[in-house]
Amino acid sequence: MMATKEYDVVVVGGGPSGATAAHDLARQGRSVLLLDRAGRIKPCGGAIPPRLIREFDIPAHLLVARINAARMIAPSETEVDMPIDGGFVGMVERESFDEFLRVRAAEAGAVRATGSFTRLLRDADGMAVVEYHPKGAPEGAPPVWLRARCVIGADGARSQVAKQSVKGADKIPCVFAYHEIVEAPRNGEAPKYEAKRCDVFYQGKLSPDFYAWIFPHGDKVSIGTGSAQKGFSLRGSVGALRASTGLDRMRTIRREGAPIPLKPLKRWDNGRDVVLAGDAAGVVAPSSGEGIYYAMLCGRLAADAAAAFCATGQAQALAGARKRFMKLHGRVFMILGIMQYFWYSSDKRREKFVAICRDKDVQRLTWEAYMNKELVRRDPMTHVKIFLKDMAHLLGLSGPRLDRTASTSRGDA
Ligand SMILES: Cc1cc2nc3c(=O)[nH]c(=O)nc-3n(C[C@H](O)[C@H](O)[C@H](O)COP(=O)(O)OP(=O)(O)OC[C@H]3O[C@@H](n4cnc5c(N)ncnc54)[C@H](O)[C@@H]3O)c2cc1C
Repeated sequence: MMATKEYDVVVVGGGPSGATAAHDLARQGRSVLLLDRAGRIKPCGGAIPPRLIREFDIPAHLLVARINAARMIAPSETEVDMPIDGGFVGMVERESFDEFLRVRAAEAGAVRATGSFTRLLRDADGMAVVEYHPKGAPEGAPPVWLRARCVIGADGARSQVAKQSVKGADKIPCVFAYHEIVEAPRNGEAPKYEAKRCDVFYQGKLSPDFYAWIFPHGDKVSIGTGSAQKGFSLRGSVGALRASTGLDRMRTIRREGAPIPLKPLKRWDNGRDVVLAGDAAGVVAPSSGEGIYYAMLCGRLAADAAAAFCATGQAQALAGARKRFMKLHGRVFMILGIMQYFWYSSDKRREKFVAICRDKDVQRLTWEAYMNKELVRRDPMTHVKIFLKDMAHLLGLSGPRLDRTASTSRGDA
């Protein structure tokens, strides 16, 4: 094995997490290589919160839509609209969004390489060696080996870096998500479709343990669903959703799916010289499946940890990434995990969950928490009020009764 070059850090995976890590390390003056296999657009709904746009300086031209409301649809077809007061959900196309982040990392000084990571090896002196096959290399050509003081594994769900270096990484529980990208309807081709509203379906028939969605993307629409249940037909579900909304008449552009990990790993580092970030570390919010913001934050924290490790040689610096992340978001992840387990387990509960969403306080706190990625602490009485209302709903003590006449789809949410 002949390693040709040496870097402070080799980042495997050029999605939002890896590209952010490479960018930050290059800005800090570290020698860094960003390896991505390229050739496939990441299947993704592309919804991002304003905090991501602010914190990671995302230019406005990358937003293909700004969403100003969500419609929650219960098993009974009751619709509850949740308008966003003074904010929005941004929609990006992953093809251009991810490439923008990779180009930005390169402009900051990261070296880009295109190819598939295969193995993490060790040199005679114990240093990590990243093996990859360059894209387009002729059949039988030897792989490339790179020496790295530190490796960041940001190669997504089912990460090879994680499997090869961190115990338990092959056992992350996942939801499998599938979506179809179609041309957006125009001139009332699908009367219920609204270009500035996300529709979220909490219906067991469309997903027995997650949810289905319609996310507008400017001239395109993502229609998808997810489930961890083997045997559940995701394609069948999306087909049914398209048929019931008139979106079956629109031309299909792509059909694609990917796993979404739903539980952060207990360890993100190997105690030596590897640290994981993003989906590779299992970091996607339960309940919502939101992962882009958290992947980018993980990339940033992994970059800080790798830089500290390079500066001090202290391997425990690598554990700092997970510690800092869990301090910031561990509580929210725990609450969202409980919510998913509880509210998505039967149609009866889904019905109540959608009913709770009619509450103005719930709507305000939900959007504030989504947009700013912080639990809203300044309003403790509202939390108490919501908790009491939740309990009343759970125990069946309170209205509003969820029937079609109580629907808020007329915009009186
Ligand atoms: C259908 C679907 C819809 C979703 N919708 C949303 C949404 O609306 N909003 C949201 O916030 N999140 C959403 N998510 C989750 C979100 O897409 C992920 O959490 C996010 O992309 C994670 O970023 P990442 O950089 O960690 O991993 P990824 O985006 O998966 O990037 C990993 C990168 O690693 C590269 N790679 C993988 N293996 C190798 C290898 N062997 N060698 C070299 N490179 C490799 C890949 O090419 C890829 O570029 C959705 C996920 C799915 C599946």
